[in-house]
Amino acid sequence: MGSPGPRFAHHVSGMESKGNRLSGDACDRDWIWEREIETASAEDSFRLAAGAWERQFRRLRESSPFYARKFREAGLGSSFVGLADLQNLPLTGKHEFKTALEEDPPFGNNLCVEPNLVKRVYQTSGTTGSPNILALTRADMETWTVMGTRTYYATGIHEHSSVLSTFGAGPFVAGHTHFALLRIGSRTIPVAPGDTERVLFSLRAGIADTLLATASFAQYLANRLEKTDEQPSQIPLTHIVTGGEPGGGIPAIRDHIEKVLGVTVTEVMGIGDVAPSLFGECPHQQGMHFCGMGHVWPELIEPETLEPMEIETGAVGELVYTALTREAMPVVRFRGADIVRIEGTSCACERTTFRMRVLGRRDDMFIVRGVNVYPAAILSVVGDYRPRVTGRARVVRQAGEVSVTPPVPIEVEVPDGRESDPKLVDELTEAIHTKLVFRSQVTLVPETEFGEAGYKTKLTVSRS
Ligand SMILES: [Zn+2]
Repeated sequence: MGSPGPRFAHHVSGMESKGNRLSGDACDRDWIWEREIETASAEDSFRLAAGAWERQFRRLRESSPFYARKFREAGLGSSFVGLADLQNLPLTGKHEFKTALEEDPPFGNNLCVEPNLVKRVYQTSGTTGSPNILALTRADMETWTVMGTRTYYATGIHEHSSVLSTFGAGPFVAGHTHFALLRIGSRTIPVAPGDTERVLFSLRAGIADTLLATASFAQYLANRLEKTDEQPSQIPLTHIVTGGEPGGGIPAIRDHIEKVLGVTVTEVMGIGDVAPSLFGECPHQQGMHFCGMGHVWPELIEPETLEPMEIETGAVGELVYTALTREAMPVVRFRGADIVRIEGTSCACERTTFRMRVLGRRDDMFIVRGVNVYPAAILSVVGDYRPRVTGRARVVRQAGEVSVTPPVPIEVEVPDGRESDPKLVDELTEAIHTKLVFRSQVTLVPETEFGEAGYKTKLTVSRS
């Protein structure tokens, strides 16, 4: 054999020739955490999942009053439903857990184990005022860690990384990130969400080379350092992992952050009721890989008709999840409410799991003259007008309104003092019309009035 070249020989067409590691990473560890599982063939992945599902299905029938009833009401009788026929089972919506909780407090009748086996309880945001309960056994916590470790390792975080995390711990599942980072063996520096001063101190001091943050916060940081620092890219930060909202995958946002701070931006995503970290984007930056193999079974459905769709390149639909190994609170065909586009089913990094980007939340979608619009698309248009805009924007809708009659009211955040710029309003209105094909009514809102910078940005606000 000739030169001791890289181990990846094949090339996936259309991909930029980026490495399997982040630039500057010279370590010799495999860049895939669980190579056998993450590069398995579709047949092997299915076989692994099908075996787990068989056990899970029997358990649900015997131990979950919630699912036993759902299956009964769906007229299943006593027949076994295999993984290949999962679409014959009913979908589960988040709102159903509220009823489940009310019927059998404190955990709900979707609890599948003895209460004394519940070793961790998270409170997630419910669909209405009060929180939902998420109970985990020890094994459930371990399973989350396994999937989270694959996820963060896929982004390029390795043992030698030093990670500043602004993902909130508290009662929220995002705090589980720390278990995954501990498993990888990286250094972690936890900071509260939105604590800009501590983040800046840590980055300037060179304590961290990696930052975990929402896309909004990363964008805010880039905007702020662009103003205050002569050369913000001199800060010893090389990698930002965004999560909690779309944005890290939107070129207008990602490219700006990368350019200003001299970093690579990759994305992660999780779903509170399924797993806090379930998708991670590799350094090839072509969308987030599914990282739940063997523990979670994903399906794609058409969000209106609820018909199953093939997970294939270019498909757009809603992801639905089934927990194959979860003990305390398994979910079956749980609607994740994120509308995604499948970017591919192979990758130059050798992972065989599908890659995707989030287009937006199902609830955020609105319809203008028969065309579906996701507010995240507006960010891609607005981002091109930096530095006259900050990059944040939102749609104003009447409560519950899905079909919007143009002009669609859009608020665009601008630096303070720049709110009277009729030329910018015209340019934005024109660009939105050209690229997104609907008429809008743009209002410029100064930073001080737009609302809390630095955590998540709500893409839709309801006003009556
Ligand atoms: Zn990849």
